[in-house]
Amino acid sequence: MPDPARLAEVADLLDEDLLTLRETFALSIDLPRSPEAPTRKVNPDKAVRYCEDCAVLGYHSYLHEHTWLARCPFHAVPLKFAYPQTQTGTNYVRRCKTLAQIMSDACPYWPGAGQQTFEFDNCESFAWLSNWIARVSKASALFSKRRVWTSVEQIFQNIGADTHLVGRLHALEPIPFKMRPLFDEVQDGWGADIQRFPLQARRELSEVSDLGLDSLFSIYKTIAAYTATPPGFARDTDSCIQALQSHHSACRCEWGREKAGWANHWVRVHPDDWPHWNLVCPYAVAREQLELATGRRLEVLTRRQREAEEIALIMRCHSLMERGLISMTPCANASPEGRLYSMPQIWPPMEWVGTPWLNAVLDAATECEVSALNSSLCEWLDDIAQGNSPVQFTAAPPLIWLSETEDGLVLIKWHRRRKRG
Ligand SMILES: [Zn+2]
Ligand SMILES: [Zn+2]
Repeated sequence: MPDPARLAEVADLLDEDLLTLRETFALSIDLPRSPEAPTRKVNPDKAVRYCEDCAVLGYHSYLHEHTWLARCPFHAVPLKFAYPQTQTGTNYVRRCKTLAQIMSDACPYWPGAGQQTFEFDNCESFAWLSNWIARVSKASALFSKRRVWTSVEQIFQNIGADTHLVGRLHALEPIPFKMRPLFDEVQDGWGADIQRFPLQARRELSEVSDLGLDSLFSIYKTIAAYTATPPGFARDTDSCIQALQSHHSACRCEWGREKAGWANHWVRVHPDDWPHWNLVCPYAVAREQLELATGRRLEVLTRRQREAEEIALIMRCHSLMERGLISMTPCANASPEGRLYSMPQIWPPMEWVGTPWLNAVLDAATECEVSALNSSLCEWLDDIAQGNSPVQFTAAPPLIWLSETEDGLVLIKWHRRRKRG
């Protein structure tokens, strides 16, 4: 915020009231954003969200348009929606016209500045909110700085991201009961499991980071899931899949996923009508998601996808072998440097070797992925069983990340205990 005297000078120069200018120059208030909760487009339906009490004063704030807020932080009254009446002009013009209409209806002296004004620093909710945002931004930065890897499953992304973010921030800096009505929703039950790894683990990970950690993770998972003595995560994936199957001995699902071109969409089906040649039920989708993420994924890919992945893997054999991360299996027809002479008949043609701490980190992170994805999928299936549509879920996405610390690495897995109401 610039100094008050300078601000008054500018206000005078522009013939603008001081309140508007102070808001313009104030630091913007928003939730601390991160890769898994990027800035949300406010009001996707192009409506104007406003506060009736503010409108009486001829005032509107960008804060009113934050979808995670339910009430005006200055007046603590519920925010209202107004939909553009005109179809002409760009969205921006339509929104401006709508806002101008709200103001001229509500404010007796609009567009002039009246005598009536309010000091937003004196508003209790606003003062608390700006304070809380400052504290959670700091806490969340400490919690997520120097992230080297993040796991986010695509299928659960972008739905309720703001609500989940508020819930996680509430776990870091609790929102007092009195302030809860300000928010659209405050989810309880969020918490994080934390595993620490020593400096040697950080060294081993950084030695291979030039190969791309995301790609190494997926190569590791694909290869390790196929080994004769599979690691913990592969056994976990199998038992999750078995548990799903035991809950679903005969399909009575009311939804089916249909493949339409490149996209999928869900259709309502009668529970007596299974099987359908062109539809997959939610349980089969859940099983497929687990296989794809942490199971024998090559088996559930289409032929074309499988071929692409196999070729991508072959292309990397040589460099991975050079770094001692893999070895070729005896039945792979390969040169000592890891170059294949012919397309292997048995997949995968390599075994994961890795290094001790790298393997420990990869294993732990993948085990977290299995359990997080499984909880999300079970919540999703629960929601569907309760009558929700498969695209209108409330399940939280699996969210795991790995950060570097002074003395090693820290693996963080977020989870949410849901109360069934
Ligand atoms: Zn207000
Ligand atoms: Zn089913």
